[in-house]
Amino acid sequence: MQIKIDLKQIFEKEKQPEFKGTYEIDPKDLGIPADVGEVKKPIKVNVHITKNPKGEGYKITYNIEGNVELTCSRCLETFDKDLSGEHTLKLQNGLNDDRENLREGDLSTYSLEGDVLNLTELIREQIILDVPYKPLCHPECKGIEYETPSEEAPNSGSTEKENSPFAGLKKLLDKKG
Ligand SMILES: [Zn+2]
Repeated sequence: MQIKIDLKQIFEKEKQPEFKGTYEIDPKDLGIPADVGEVKKPIKVNVHITKNPKGEGYKITYNIEGNVELTCSRCLETFDKDLSGEHTLKLQNGLNDDRENLREGDLSTYSLEGDVLNLTELIREQIILDVPYKPLCHPECKGIEYETPSEEAPNSGSTEKENSPFAGLKKLLDKKG
């Protein structure tokens, strides 16, 4: 079931100055596409919402705790990406089509439907945004390691000797002797 927070109820009917809540979102409800990654454990979200004192809309700050399992684009191993982080957004009713108002300050705006925040959908979008286009298990992932002879193999030493200028000299001395 999706988590929906009725902001009109909280701020206009109950006249609460702010709203705080902690939620656990079930991986099933998030429905992250399989080609993006896999969420195996519930995602914990802390939410803090305040009403815009100057007019329409709200401000939300949310903290995510959880992991998404991704496949490394180089070595194809799966690894867990930590999703933890704090995000702040403006919440505005989607009815407003005025694009000029979609950004105010540095905050992005998330559209509400009739003053109801669909938290599950917001977190789903956040997780998809957090997944890189080409995930890497490690910034210096070397990719798939094929079995190549190691440079420290015992044979490599003697090869080097034969190629050295002294190898030819030694042959000459051997003949002389
Ligand atoms: Zn890798």
